[in-house]
This record gives sequence, structure tokens and C-alpha cells, in this order.
Amino acid sequence: MVDSHRVSLERVLVLNRIWQPIATVVVKQALTLVFRQRARVVCPESYQMFDWANWLSDKAVRSDAHVIEHDYIRTAHLQVRKPEVITLAKYAGYPNTGVPYSRRGVFERDNGQCQYCGVYVHKRAMTIDHVLPVSRGGGTNWTNCVLACQRCNHSKSDRTPGEASMALAQEPVQPTRDQLILSGVNMHESWKAFINERHVKVKL
Ligand SMILES: [Zn+2]
Repeated sequence: MVDSHRVSLERVLVLNRIWQPIATVVVKQALTLVFRQRARVVCPESYQMFDWANWLSDKAVRSDAHVIEHDYIRTAHLQVRKPEVITLAKYAGYPNTGVPYSRRGVFERDNGQCQYCGVYVHKRAMTIDHVLPVSRGGGTNWTNCVLACQRCNHSKSDRTPGEASMALAQEPVQPTRDQLILSGVNMHESWKAFINERHVKVKL
């Protein structure tokens, strides 16, 4: 099921200098990074890299030219093809180690769904359920915390899922960076080359 209200605006995949995914940004941010020479566009078909001048000379057309509008962004005189992937010029670090625990991360990992009843939860109404309750020594970490709606969290109370007869949709695990980067984002076909699909529920 495609949950359209959770799919954010069109995003551009950001790779570090050695082409590992580290984030997504909106199209305008991506173009700004390229314009400031902090990143280059990776052509979705050829995987060639383009700086700003080359992208404009190769992938921009006059504003009155006939194009598939969805694929282009308009400036005063030009229509510039939207990038799908950019690669940073300097950053070569590899961040895919030990993603720190966060509430937001739990929300993303659990795809915005209550892990007991499956309902989609608004970020502002989200609660974190400790699978093993804190009062019984349960920790606040990736493997003991799940996203829950207020109703389920309230009715589970200070019990384990077994005691409350409430089954978890899945065992909570430490997510990979790719999972958190891509959760709730509309993926482009061209991203597949850069993403470890074993770690990600690919929505194409
Ligand atoms: Zn629920």
C-alpha cells in the first residue's frame, strides 16, 4: 500500500564523494549545492558527473521549449532538468555505522505506523512504547522501542506484549542509515544503483 501522505516532496539522493548514499534533499537544495560547486549532478542514465555549467549546457533548454514538465525546473529563461542524484565534492566519510537512537528514527524505521495495530500515526501524536516496560528494566534503545498510537500504548500499559496479548508487527531492530535516509521518500529508479536493497523496502 502506498501511503501518499507520508511520501515527502520529490527528493534528490545525496552521495558522498565515494558514492555512498548519505541523505536526501529537495531539488532546490540540490541545485544550490551544485551551483556552489559543493556537489556535482550524476546523470541518471549515463552516471556521468556534471558541474553546474555542464549541466546547464547539456540538460537545460529554453523556457519555450517543449519538455515533460515534471522533469524540469523553471528559471527565468531556462528549463533545467531536475537532478535525481548528486555527489558531494569533498565529503568522503562513511556514515553507515551506528545510527544513534532517536524518537524520530523510530518513527522513520517503523514507517509511521503503530507497531501493534498498524494505524498511521501523525508525528505529533506519536508515542514510543517500551516493549519491555521501563518499570521492569527495559531500556530506551532501538531494540526495545517501537512506534505506537496513543490508544495501543495506553492499553498495553506496564505489560509486555505477551501479557497484553498484543502482537508486534515486527521485532524492533537497529536500522541502517539507508533505511532512515529513504523512509517515506519517493525513490527514483536511478537510485537503485546506489542503494543496498536488502536493507530497504524499495517503493518504486
Ligand atoms: Zn495502535
